Amino acid sequence: MLNIAHVDKTYRNGTVALHNVSLAVNEGEIVAVVGGSGCGKSTLLRLISGLDQVSTGTITVEGVKVDQPSALVGLVFQEPRLLSWLTVAENIAFGIRHLPKAEREQRVRTLLEDVRLPEYGDRWPKELSGGQAQRVAIARALAAEPDVLLLDEPFSALDAFTRAELQDHLIYLWERHRRTFLIVTHDIEEAVTLADRVVVMKPHPGRIEAELPVDLPRP
Ligand code: ADP
Ligand code: ADP
Repeated sequence: MLNIAHVDKTYRNGTVALHNVSLAVNEGEIVAVVGGSGCGKSTLLRLISGLDQVSTGTITVEGVKVDQPSALVGLVFQEPRLLSWLTVAENIAFGIRHLPKAEREQRVRTLLEDVRLPEYGDRWPKELSGGQAQRVAIARALAAEPDVLLLDEPFSALDAFTRAELQDHLIYLWERHRRTFLIVTHDIEEAVTLADRVVVMKPHPGRIEAELPVDLPRP
């Protein structure tokens, strides 16, 4: 599904952000990437999402090389980054404007139900709580039905209660959509709670130090 093969990333200033990173993620698998600051987690997500290019090696999704942003990969950031001048429904529909109106509206309705905000389509982003806004951001990322959903510290800006709630939502969404999820987190407990497999990264240069299977039931 997602295949990362012998990837190196050296920035123009000479920083080796990633060295010889290889990782294969199966369809429908949830993988958590953990590691301290500077070990290349954000760089890795930027490369997989096509926002930046590898120096050497290859990254493919379903056999298709990703070297620019595409509908194959959805992205959720630490902050929701909703567009304030669009309603919740319009935000979710933003990446699928090319679809016929009926199909677009059906998808938006389904996603609003999936993130348990069925009545919120006509609201504005500023009317939402932090947890609700992040649920909308996840719905928006799923709208184009990406093969892989990347989540970059998606819950670390939320309080502990909301974080636990959103973790439950994420599992529910995964059960509904069965996409491949790759979640970057500082929170080892979150990694173990959510993921089938935990990938541990180390810095200088950024690399994968270990891969650990998780054999725990999900919440
Ligand atoms: P993490 O997300 O794990 O904190 P990053 O991917 O942000 O790690 O950074 C990995 C390394 O690459 C760090 O040494 C960082 O300073 C460096 N780095 C990140 N972005 C750039 C950039 N645009 N130019 C130069 N160096 C960068
Ligand atoms: P349009 O002019 O195409 O109807 P809008 O700007 O009204 O576009 O909305 C953009 C898209 O957002 C809609 O096509 C639809 O997919 C979605 N949308 C807007 N409001 C709602 C809503 N209340 N429920 C479901 N989907 C909505």
